[in-house]
Amino acid sequence: MEIVRREEIMRILDDYDEKDITIGTIGSHSALQILHGARQEGFRTLVICLKGVEELYERFGVADDILTVNDYREMISDGFQEMLRSRNVILIPHGSFVEYLSAEGIASMRTPIFGNRKVLEWESDRRKQREWLAAAGIKMPMSFERGDEIDRLVIVKLHGAKGGSSYFIASSPEELKQKLRDIDNAYEIQEYIIGTRFYPHYFHSFVRNRTELLGIDIRYESNIDGLARITPFMTEKIEPSFVVTGNIPVVARESLLLKILHVGDGVVSASRSLFSGGIVGPFCVELVCTDTLELFAFEISARIVAGTNLYINGSPYSQILFNESMSTGRRIAIEIKEAIRMDMLHQIVY
Ligand code: AMP
Repeated sequence: MEIVRREEIMRILDDYDEKDITIGTIGSHSALQILHGARQEGFRTLVICLKGVEELYERFGVADDILTVNDYREMISDGFQEMLRSRNVILIPHGSFVEYLSAEGIASMRTPIFGNRKVLEWESDRRKQREWLAAAGIKMPMSFERGDEIDRLVIVKLHGAKGGSSYFIASSPEELKQKLRDIDNAYEIQEYIIGTRFYPHYFHSFVRNRTELLGIDIRYESNIDGLARITPFMTEKIEPSFVVTGNIPVVARESLLLKILHVGDGVVSASRSLFSGGIVGPFCVELVCTDTLELFAFEISARIVAGTNLYINGSPYSQILFNESMSTGRRIAIEIKEAIRMDMLHQIVY
């Protein structure tokens, strides 16, 4: 699939009526929040969902237009794209976009997308993610090239292991060999960091030229988060797994907040040197904090994360920043609105 050049999207934007923008997204993940936030800021809203799922968006009444498809890839067709453009749609990407459309599919879309579609290339490749975090000066768990090198507890991440369902833990080369028959199946053998997790929700505003902390969550994962409830005798026999089943709100102790903010700043400044335009809008870094209060990062999500759904009404941090209920979905809509007002829309959309 052909990657659509930035200049082409800019030409499409030139033809948009900026007084009549529609905010659109795929009907899943954080769509309710995104559409609700867009409505709060006075935008028309549109959702694209699989047949049968439209009922959800009807019942919550968040969308002016509901389009149904049999397969999300229909969205990539020229006819569908043309129809989105005729409605002045700006798409807001979320966690289901790459899953349903693929990184290449999204890059080929001839519809303006909020943020910078270049981040997809960096987000969807684990090696590039490490390069990005290293350039940002953020500590990461050690990565082992070979199974016989491991000298500590490791987590083995497998290709196609959706939501961490078949990740596993090993503490010696022998154990690893016994559990992993085909080493090519693993994309990373990573030091397991014992500590507490923090998944901060950042928002980099191009218009206000600042990186905001809008909230923090912890992913609730099965069965690892259930293992602590049974005896050590039992846990020895049960393999942990890391399937996300929900999200829990958390606030960090205040003395950690500056470190957490600096992680976000590092990600933004490194993105500018790694790819043109850098990161714009929401992103999240998965962090573990050790008992010596060191932060280690093991993943970047370069778009809105589902954990932000906890804070449709705002989080303690967004309350302090804005003094009113501010979800990440609403924050995106404000960025678009302010960019339109200041003639900067071309810089926050690609
Ligand atoms: P990931 O697919 O990288 O988001 O990992 C899924 C889950 O595995 C995370 O939410 C953590 O609970 C756990 N995890 C991943 N990598 C590490 C690590 N290096 N140390 C500790 N826990 C990890």
